[in-house]
Amino acid sequence: MTRLKPRQTGFLDAPALPQKQVMGVLLPRPLAGAYDYKLPADSNAGRGLLVSAPLGNRELLGVVWGPAEGTVGDNRLKTAEPLAGDPALPPRLCDFIDWVADYTLNPPGAILAMALRSRTAFEPEVPRTAYVKGEVVPARMSEARARVLDVAGDGLARSIPALAEDANVSPAVVRGLIQAGALAPTNLPEFPPFPAPDADAAAPRLNPDQQQAADALRTAATDGGFAAFLLDGVTGSGKTEVYFEAVAAALKAGRQALILLPEIALTVQFLDRFAARFGVRPAEWHSDLSQKERRRTYRAVMKGEARVVVGARSSLFLPFPELGLIVVDEEHEQAFKQQDGAIYHARDMAVVRARIEGCPVVLASATPSLESFVNAGAGRYRHLVLKGRHGIAELPEVRLIDMRHERDGPEVEARGQWLSPPLRAALEKTLGAGEQAMLFLNRRGYAPLTLCEACGHKFMCPDCSTWLVEHKYRRRLACHQCGYEIPTPSECPECHETGTLIPCGPGVERVAEEFAQFFPNARYAIASSDTLHGPAETQAAIRAMMRGEIDVLIGTQIVAKGHHFPGLTLVGVVDADLGGADGDVRARERTFQLLHQVSGRAGRAEKPGLVLLQTRNPDDAVMQALASGDRDGFYEQERMFREAAKAPPFGRLVAIVISGPDGEQVREVARALGKTAPAAHDVKVWGPTPAFYALLRGATRERLLVQAARTVDVQAYLKAWLPLVKVPSTVRVAVDVDPVSFF
Ligand code: ADP
Ligand code: ZN
Repeated sequence: MTRLKPRQTGFLDAPALPQKQVMGVLLPRPLAGAYDYKLPADSNAGRGLLVSAPLGNRELLGVVWGPAEGTVGDNRLKTAEPLAGDPALPPRLCDFIDWVADYTLNPPGAILAMALRSRTAFEPEVPRTAYVKGEVVPARMSEARARVLDVAGDGLARSIPALAEDANVSPAVVRGLIQAGALAPTNLPEFPPFPAPDADAAAPRLNPDQQQAADALRTAATDGGFAAFLLDGVTGSGKTEVYFEAVAAALKAGRQALILLPEIALTVQFLDRFAARFGVRPAEWHSDLSQKERRRTYRAVMKGEARVVVGARSSLFLPFPELGLIVVDEEHEQAFKQQDGAIYHARDMAVVRARIEGCPVVLASATPSLESFVNAGAGRYRHLVLKGRHGIAELPEVRLIDMRHERDGPEVEARGQWLSPPLRAALEKTLGAGEQAMLFLNRRGYAPLTLCEACGHKFMCPDCSTWLVEHKYRRRLACHQCGYEIPTPSECPECHETGTLIPCGPGVERVAEEFAQFFPNARYAIASSDTLHGPAETQAAIRAMMRGEIDVLIGTQIVAKGHHFPGLTLVGVVDADLGGADGDVRARERTFQLLHQVSGRAGRAEKPGLVLLQTRNPDDAVMQALASGDRDGFYEQERMFREAAKAPPFGRLVAIVISGPDGEQVREVARALGKTAPAAHDVKVWGPTPAFYALLRGATRERLLVQAARTVDVQAYLKAWLPLVKVPSTVRVAVDVDPVSFF
């Protein structure tokens, strides 16, 4: 053994061996909070740094969240390693995640999981091998080889398939040249870069109303700083053109922009429209992307290479380092509310993210949510109004067809007739003039209920409290909640009679069947959000409509939104009363919004539009507002109604849904929660009662509803209450702050 050398000079003065730093690391799991980990001393362990952290015997992706919590003993601390290249989430995104977690009463790790939706985003680049012309001249030359070398002569690096294609040879020829050394390998980045949108590519000449709104948005996007706008204008007034000006201003200010759309189906069309304005397509983000596309987009956003992202609600959690604008188009849409997993409202959270980022947010709609309408009225949002349609297009005329008078004969009822004589007459006129029509019914399939004439048996889903919907073309009865389906039976399972099953009520398929009977020569297509038809078929129908390849589009709500069909002059709403009576505070608002949106499809170009609403309640305030075009009158009335009822936005609601496979257990937890609800000023707790779907996918569901004054901190109230009840692992308690539907 060698003896220790004497201490070297200066050793005592040297700094103590660096201690490993200990930090709180958040894992993308629904755990209580951040866990403490050691980090290598030389790492720059700021908030947001991505690390690989051991948990049990696994390595998880984690994020340095803040100082150590001191919850893990020194001897039990594990080491987390920063990822190669030290990638980090922007600290402001971390602040946003904390905010959302706190507001929605979810563990922050559950929200973080939504921000780490690309599992491979942080893995190192894998360069692509490409080839350029090499030094060697091949001994054997052929015409094909010469063509390849000619193509490669331009100095661009190409992959083997690209070279083969450009030279019109087989890949084997290219490989031969590589072997001969006539083509030399070189590295290309893993992904082609996102091209930068050009703010000035095709800027429109705005009309005076648009100009005024655009000026306000441009100034806000140029100056930066939080500001919220409600961009309110009828369909076709140019809201998209106007907020594109804000996007252009954000781009010029050197910042990124995010445009949120409610549905993927709309995103696809939108990309082309964006390209027409900015020269290139934006980056897109939604659940239909492949793992590879996710990786590409996520990285590009994080590095600031993707300047504009268009996406569904989940894009709100992307790691923008320099976000300068958020737009929420069709802000009233319920699709912005995520109902599974962590429940949040992307429109509301977009306003929060904008506040945290210090940038403007634009909420655009022809039929704003009452919340936004009230916020604009109170001055919390700046209200930008576009009064008329752009150009010569006029708003369509809306007429009510009183179905009480149109179908009172019992033989008409029995035959099932959904298109009234006035609607058929209008269709005939429209088709005769070579124009297009749309028939709208917010119900998928053929018939919403199947009944046995002999014994009265109704077909229900065994796992949900819903009727099975007949899909005639596929000859199946399907549950629209859980996807359960059976072949349409020929005999009643109850009384075993045959030929006694009758479809009750219409779905779009049945309306189409009737339409085809009346108009055998018309070209039509069905567009439905149905998984049975599939998004590709729906897109094809919509495209055919736009190109004038069909005369009539028969569809569910998928055709109601956003689309611009220049030749469409007639809209027929088959059942305007549908969905108006489920007793939730937003039912009227939603009916109005949907029907107004549908109506807005008509007459968007030169020819004036006509909208016919078939209703059994023509005196109802919603129908009257639609017929008279008095939107603001309807909103004012709705506002007073909600204020009197202390309903949102004048009061707070939180829904608590308790669910699980064992009904008794679920009811027990629900009762225990009901009993332990603390008494508090200005807070009322209703329930438990069976939820609207008392049975869903085999789970029993009970619901409690918390109603509180706006001044009440409902989060604090719930945090004090919920832990009082012990919940078995087989029961789930889901908290929905600001519920928008009660299902
Ligand atoms: P909204 O988003 O309010 O429904 P859009 O922005 O889609 O309205 O505009 C409706 C139609 O009118 C689109 O085809 C759009 O390109 C066109 N348009 C609107 N404003 C202008 C303008 N200033 N110049 C040229 N076309 C316009
Ligand atoms: Zn079901």
